[in-house]
Amino acid sequence: MLSDKIKQAIRISYKAIGENLTNFNPRKQQTFLIAEIAKTLAGDYDKARKIITIEAGTGTGKSLAYTLATIPLAISKEKKVCISTATVALQEQLVDKDLPFLKKHSGLNFNFTLVKGRQRYVCRQKLAQAITQDDSPQAGFTFAQKPKANEIKLLHDMHKALLDNDWQGDLDSWQDPVPHYIWQQVQSDKHSCIKHQSEHTHCPFHKARDTMEEADVLVVNHSLLLADLELGGGVILPPPEDTYYVIDEAHHLPKVTRDHSSASVNLKGAIDWLNKLKETGDKMANAIKSQSAISPSLKLGDDCQDLLMELQKVLSFVDNNVSLYFPEKSQAYGNAYDNKNQDEALYRFENGIIPQSLKNWAEDLTELSKKCLSHINKLYNLLMESVKDGDCQIHLAEPLLAESGFMIQRLENFNALWKMYAKTDSEKGAPLARWLEKTTNKRQDYLLSASPIEVGFALEDMLWSKCEGAVLCSATILALNSFDHFRRQVGLQTNDGSQYQQVDSPFDYQNNAKLVIAKMVNEPSQPQFTDELIKQLPSLIKQDKATLVLFSSYWQMEQVARELRDEHQLTIQVQGEQSRQHIIEQHKKYCDNDKDSIIFGTQSFSEGLDLPGKYLTNLIITKLPFSVPTSPVEEAQSEYITVKGGNPFMSLSVPETSKKLIQSTGRLLRNEQDTGTITLLDRRVVTKRYGKQLLDSLPPYKRVVE
Ligand code: SF4
Repeated sequence: MLSDKIKQAIRISYKAIGENLTNFNPRKQQTFLIAEIAKTLAGDYDKARKIITIEAGTGTGKSLAYTLATIPLAISKEKKVCISTATVALQEQLVDKDLPFLKKHSGLNFNFTLVKGRQRYVCRQKLAQAITQDDSPQAGFTFAQKPKANEIKLLHDMHKALLDNDWQGDLDSWQDPVPHYIWQQVQSDKHSCIKHQSEHTHCPFHKARDTMEEADVLVVNHSLLLADLELGGGVILPPPEDTYYVIDEAHHLPKVTRDHSSASVNLKGAIDWLNKLKETGDKMANAIKSQSAISPSLKLGDDCQDLLMELQKVLSFVDNNVSLYFPEKSQAYGNAYDNKNQDEALYRFENGIIPQSLKNWAEDLTELSKKCLSHINKLYNLLMESVKDGDCQIHLAEPLLAESGFMIQRLENFNALWKMYAKTDSEKGAPLARWLEKTTNKRQDYLLSASPIEVGFALEDMLWSKCEGAVLCSATILALNSFDHFRRQVGLQTNDGSQYQQVDSPFDYQNNAKLVIAKMVNEPSQPQFTDELIKQLPSLIKQDKATLVLFSSYWQMEQVARELRDEHQLTIQVQGEQSRQHIIEQHKKYCDNDKDSIIFGTQSFSEGLDLPGKYLTNLIITKLPFSVPTSPVEEAQSEYITVKGGNPFMSLSVPETSKKLIQSTGRLLRNEQDTGTITLLDRRVVTKRYGKQLLDSLPPYKRVVE
C-alpha cells in the first residue's frame, strides 16, 4: 500500500516544483497520473502485478509525473528506477533538463546517470596502443585500412584529452564525428578487457559503471534494456526484481524486442571465419602454455571440422535449389520475389516451415556450435588466468583475447540462428519467420535469417514476470481507441492485474485546430492522385506561413517537389536533400524572419518533429500512412493472422495506421497556445468503413469535411 509518508513526500515535491516553475498551473491530468503510477507501483491495485500502461497526450507533463511518482517510492524501498527511451532526443531531455530540474527543486535526494552501451566508451588501453608506432610489437592490433594523418592526430587528441581529464571517454561527448572504423579499433569490448590490471583503474567504461552503482535513477535506451534482459537481467543493469522500470516511448518496445531476438548468418562468410577458428584455438593454447589448454584446443579443431562439413551441406543444398528459391524474374512464383534489384532476392519460408533436411542440419549445427563455444570459452578463461598469474605477457595475450572475443560473438550469433532453424514451432503461438536472401556484396552469398513474429511471451518471461514494477507510457499507445493492439504486441492482458489509463491532453483541440478533409477527385490508389496533389498543393501551402507536408512515399514526395519547384518556383526543403537538423534550423530561420517556409517529409518526419508555435501552423497530410507489409517478418505476421482465420488488414494495418495518423496530426499542436490547420488529402477517411474509426481515434479537432 502507498504509505502516508510517501504520499506526503510526493505532495511536498510537487508543490516545490510548482513554486519553481514560472506560469505553473497544477494540472489535474498530471496529478491523476502521479497518483495512479504511485498506487500501481505500491501494489494498491495488485500486489503481484505492479504494471501500468498509460497513454498521456501531448502536454500532460508525463515525465514529471512518472519521475515524481517513482523516485520517492524507489528510495523508500531501496529500489532503482530505470527509465528507458527509444530516442536520443528524449534521453537528452531527461538527463540535461528534467532530472536536473527535479533534483534541484523537488527536495528529493537522488542521483541519476545516463547508462550507455559499452561500445560507446573508449578503451584506454587500446587507445594508448593505437598511438604507439604501427610497427611496434606492442601495437597489438592493426587497422583494416591505414589511418590518414588527420585520423592519427585525432587518436592523439583523444588520448591527450583523456589524460588531461578533458574528456570522459565516451563517443557522444567527443566534439567531432569519429570515423566508424577508427572507433571500432579503440572502443571498449568485454572480451579483450583485462580490468584487474592496476593501470586500468581510470578506464572510462568502468568509471561510468561505478557511477551507475551509486545512481538511484538510470536512463537507458530500449536497446540496452533488451540487451540486459536477454542476458537474464541484472547483468548490465540492476536486477529486474530490484527495479521499477519506466518505459517511455513504449510503442517502440515491440519492434526493438523483435530486432534483438532475430539472428542472421552468411553461409560463405561463416565458412571463411570458421576456417580460422582452429588456428585461433591453437594460438591460444600456445600462449597459455599449460597442459589444460590441450584438450579444449584439440576438441575445438575436431568439432569445428564437423561444423564446417555440415555447413557445406547447407550451402550445397541452397546452391542446388537456387532456381527454386530465386527464379529468374519472369518465372518468379510462390514466395520468391525480387528485392531491390535482380541480383538480390529473398525467399521466405511459408509459415516458417523449412525443408526437413535443412532442419536436420540445423539441429547438428546448433549442437556443434554450442560445443565450439564451450571450447573457445574455456581457452579464453585459461588465457585470462595466465595473464593474471603472469604466465603470459599482456602484449601477447591482448590481440588473442580480442580475436577470440570476436569469434565468440560470431559463434553466439551463429548458434542463435541455427537454434531458431532447429526449433519446432509450438502450435499454440506464432511460428518464427525464417527466410533466405541472395546477396551480392563482394561476391554472391546466401544470408539465412530468423526472427520471432510475436514478442509478448518473451517480454512476459524476461520482464513483466520478474520486475518489481513497470510503467509503460507514450503519447501514442492506443490504436482505434483501444489498448488491445498494444497489449497483444507486448504480452500484457486485460485481466492479469495490469492497469491501463488514458489521459487526455489539456490542449483545446476544438478551438485551436481545424482538421479539413479536403475535396479530392482521386483517392491515393488512383494513378491521377499525384497529378491532383501537384494541382492542389500550391493553394493549400499558401494558406499559412509555416507548412509541413507529409507524404507516404519518397518517390511521390520527390515527384511533387520537382513539379512545384519547376512550375511554381516554390522554395521547398525536402527530406533527404539536407540533414534533418539543417532543415529544421533553416525552417526556423525563415519563420523568425517572417518568411514562408515549406518542408516536405515522409513518415520519419511525422514522429518526434517538434515545431512549436509559429514554426508550424499548416500541416498537410497527403495520404493515410498505411504501410504494406514489405519485410519478411511483417509478411509472416500477416500470413499467421490469415492462417488463424483473422484479417491482417483490420487487425494489423488499420490499428498501425491509426497510431501513425495520430502521430502525424500530433505535429501541429505542441503547446497549449498553438493553433493551426491540418488538411488531409485522403478521402478514404470518409469513403471507407474503417475511415470513421480512424477519424474517431483522433483528438477532437474541429472537423470540416469538404
Ligand atoms: S579496463 Fe578494459 S575497457 Fe577499460 S581500459 Fe582496461 S582493457 Fe580497456
